[in-house]
Amino acid sequence: MPAWRKTDVATYGLIEAGGTKFMLGLADEKGVIGEPYRIPTTTPEETLGAAIDWFRSKSPLYTAFGIGSFGPLDLNRNSPTWGYITRTPKPHWANTDLAGVFARAFSCPVGIETDVNGAALAEARWGAGVGHGSLLYLTIGTGIGGGFVSDGRLLHGLSHPEMGHIRLPRHPDDLGFAGACPFHGDCLEGLASGPAIIARWGVSLSELATDHLAHGIIAWYLGQAVCTFQAMLEPERIVIGGGVTATPGLLDRVRKEAVNAGAGYFTGEPADVIVAPGLGTGSGLMGALAIAIRSTS
Ligand code: ZN
Repeated sequence: MPAWRKTDVATYGLIEAGGTKFMLGLADEKGVIGEPYRIPTTTPEETLGAAIDWFRSKSPLYTAFGIGSFGPLDLNRNSPTWGYITRTPKPHWANTDLAGVFARAFSCPVGIETDVNGAALAEARWGAGVGHGSLLYLTIGTGIGGGFVSDGRLLHGLSHPEMGHIRLPRHPDDLGFAGACPFHGDCLEGLASGPAIIARWGVSLSELATDHLAHGIIAWYLGQAVCTFQAMLEPERIVIGGGVTATPGLLDRVRKEAVNAGAGYFTGEPADVIVAPGLGTGSGLMGALAIAIRSTS
């Protein structure tokens, strides 16, 4: 697992592209990641220009770049817009070339994935997935997303998976809420993301008393989701990360609800299958490193 310490040896350029900030980093050939550098996400011209200036100030040459980005992204290698952010509602960023900008500036391989796919790769390689052949990474925060890694390879189809937008049964005590997803209303993200929790109860889950019914309802939805993903993919590990899951006791509740929802079909020992991230919450640049390393092989 890469450690955080200062390094002047620039081999890999790392970018964690978020809606409010870009985190930049360097990693040497051993995978040691240097002190991260933060720039605000404003317009593509400003933010990408500042990123390129920073990387140029650190090294003239790079082995590869890895980008873990907010999406949606075009990840079809045969597409003329591969490596673009596509239809995001974020102002200025729809149809923005992200990967190509770095490829042209530094003439080296550039790998790009969604941030959640990057985290899934890093967890599989250095975190909770070590010693396991398959891993599903779910993040439950401002949005909900998932990435699946099997034998070191990410699942892709026409695009990256959009696991946050699956449809679920409704909890019987939650029928009055229309859901917070602007596209689907009561999909998983519309029911169990941070904004969906605040839309119903006014505060985040960790700010509600432990006996508040919200805890049971959110755990129930996440248990249904785990049951669905297990039926489709049977991951050896299901890693649940993101801000919402920092709520004390939630992971245990999700395990119980997943077993109940499986009704005899839950595979494995719940505490071994459903786990917290092995890399903590700081896996963004490690995801970018995993993406960069993969782009050179
Ligand atoms: Zn949705």
